[in-house]
Amino acid sequence: MDESIVSDAGSGGESTPRTVHFVSLGCPKNRVDSEVMLGGALQKGYRHVDEASDAEVIVVNTCGFIESAKKESIETILEMAELKKSGRCKKLVVSGCLSQRYPGELSESLPEVDHFLGSSDMPKLSAVLDGERTRMLVGQPKDWVVSAEDPRMLSTRGASAYVKIAEGCNRSCSFCVIPKMRGKQRSRTIDDIVREVERLVSMGVLEVNLISQDTIAYGRDLGDGTSLEKLVQRVAEVRGLHWLRIFYLYPETITDGLIELLDSHPVVLPYVDMPLQHAADGMLRRMKRGHGGKRLYSLVEKLRARVRDLTFRTAFIVGHPGETEQEFAELCDFVRFAEFDRVGVFRYSDEEDCEARNFADKVRPIESYQRHRKLMALQREISRKKNRALVGRELEVLVEGPSEESELVLVGRHGGQAPEIDGVVFLSLGDPRPGTIVKARIEKATDYDLLGVLDEDGEVIEGAAREPSLRAPALVIKASDGRRVLRTL
Ligand code: SF4
Repeated sequence: MDESIVSDAGSGGESTPRTVHFVSLGCPKNRVDSEVMLGGALQKGYRHVDEASDAEVIVVNTCGFIESAKKESIETILEMAELKKSGRCKKLVVSGCLSQRYPGELSESLPEVDHFLGSSDMPKLSAVLDGERTRMLVGQPKDWVVSAEDPRMLSTRGASAYVKIAEGCNRSCSFCVIPKMRGKQRSRTIDDIVREVERLVSMGVLEVNLISQDTIAYGRDLGDGTSLEKLVQRVAEVRGLHWLRIFYLYPETITDGLIELLDSHPVVLPYVDMPLQHAADGMLRRMKRGHGGKRLYSLVEKLRARVRDLTFRTAFIVGHPGETEQEFAELCDFVRFAEFDRVGVFRYSDEEDCEARNFADKVRPIESYQRHRKLMALQREISRKKNRALVGRELEVLVEGPSEESELVLVGRHGGQAPEIDGVVFLSLGDPRPGTIVKARIEKATDYDLLGVLDEDGEVIEGAAREPSLRAPALVIKASDGRRVLRTL
């Protein structure tokens, strides 16, 4: 058996294994950390249980990005702490960004918690399970990054996996606290990432999603010429990988080589996820983004011209201190011009340790609320138009499994739909196996989702001979950044 990607079937041998339950909050990067901790727990003989009330050990991997995420993390910890009274829970462990950010405060105000781990302390969970008694295990500096050798249990549906290629960020955007929680950028080597992808593919994964905080800067800290372009080239050559998607590109110059890969490599999806945050010069300056709006216009033009069938996802912040009506109007103009396929819109909130908190000219909550609504409405029109343009087309769809609404309807995604953040394709007819890629004709479109009908012969493109070997545990996943909240089954 592969040592690094762990299966939970039968772990613990003949004796009754001890039980663990995970709640993973926040972004996919946190989710990878949860999967690594879960993998470590399974290697220790623990069995993952779907219900928190059945678990002897509960781990809450927290998010501390914005106010609402912090609130959700605390509420979840308190909810889980109740199970020390009414359930089987003997140990409550809190890990991740929130405990990294507020170790002292949390330790004082949450006596129910048995152990605190930070954002770089995932490997320490094994010691906790072995009986480590130290309560405060939040480490400094924040220097850990996942490696191919780390045990990991996937929690994603179907045949999809996230691969974290680097940790931390070296930039200093005014509104962002991530560098303080996650530390300076540290990239994995290409060889290590390729090893992990090969293992994932050997277990039935068809789609790999590369993630980090600042993916375009991948490799720079290694100082040996490693670059995102070289990484993508190597990973895309892993035999058996069908889709490769890149997340979180900072709006810098994308090399011609990378554009070429996005446009024409059969495995690299023509999908760009690039959070732009704003488009007005004044705002970008205040946000300390290091570029003006002009660059964004030309970047969008260039990508649209050179990447066929491009799906462009971005995110913006409205209501950042100093944002004027004029600047917001400029942002709307830009969104009309760019016609992004998908846009996430976030309302600015003051965060401790962020420069923007000390800025004057705060935008009133009612104004930021209205701007959020207005931008969302504007984008909804664009998304609908884009989705409708797909009606009648035949697309490859990665089948994920039964929909959350009905077991009778299967859901999947085409290459332009990223897992968990974009819409889905509902497959109304046929019985394709989850974890395979099929061809479907798109019959209908709503604002975000599509309805597809399998091709007459229901042709399976990939994975037909392969029983999906990854049983995703019911890790409770809650996305705190405005994205979907779901429970992975
Ligand atoms: S690049 Fe992203 S992670 Fe880094 S500081 Fe800016 S917003 Fe935060």
